[in-house]
Amino acid sequence: MNIILIGPPGSGKGVQAQLLSTQYDIPHISVGALFREQIKKRTLIGQQAESYVKKGQLVPDKITVTLLLRRIRQRDAQRGYILDGFPRTEEQMKLFHYHIPPQLVFYIHVPPRLTIKRIAGRRQCSRCGKIYGTSLQEQKKGHCDACQGLLITREDDRPPIVKKRLDIFKQEITPILRWYKEQEVLIRIDGTKSIKTVNAQITAHLQTTARQKQ
Ligand code: AMP
Repeated sequence: MNIILIGPPGSGKGVQAQLLSTQYDIPHISVGALFREQIKKRTLIGQQAESYVKKGQLVPDKITVTLLLRRIRQRDAQRGYILDGFPRTEEQMKLFHYHIPPQLVFYIHVPPRLTIKRIAGRRQCSRCGKIYGTSLQEQKKGHCDACQGLLITREDDRPPIVKKRLDIFKQEITPILRWYKEQEVLIRIDGTKSIKTVNAQITAHLQTTARQKQ
């Protein structure tokens, strides 16, 4: 199974991808997390990507697609994977589609006022990268439940950068959605609902698709 989750920053696609990864036992591949890992390790790709990620800009397509193709060639992705945060440009979509057309693409739709509210409270573990997403009022402080690392605010989750990331998303997403719709793989999901309800909507579609294939 090879599926894509598309949505603006703060749409909950990362949380959904993690849930689906556990439910279907296939890896969750977040392109943003791949970049953060490369930056932390100070690899060549990390050095090339760093200034873009810090400013909330998209990393150039060639670097992004190279990094992703390298990741999905790894053994754990051979049965499938869930892609989160990719594609973000038409060029990325076409380059990738040429190699591996996705089976289903879920567009998790959330209006900007809600994504901004969600991101304002978001924290990330500085050690393992786990994301704690919530509203500012219920913001998690202190340490990570999984590894006890210190929780921090991602540099690109600060308000002016979030605004830029949302603007870029809005600009880039229309042709991508149009194209996947034409390919008949696009499913729109209401991302304003609870994590459990959004997950149920996605898994219902996955089950229907699996039944149709039998
Ligand atoms: P995310 O964790 O998905 O919010 O991504 C964090 C940052 O990683 C983005 O603001 C970009 O700088 C970079 N990034 C993530 N996915 C992509 C992509 N598909 N294309 C280019 N840059 C990306």
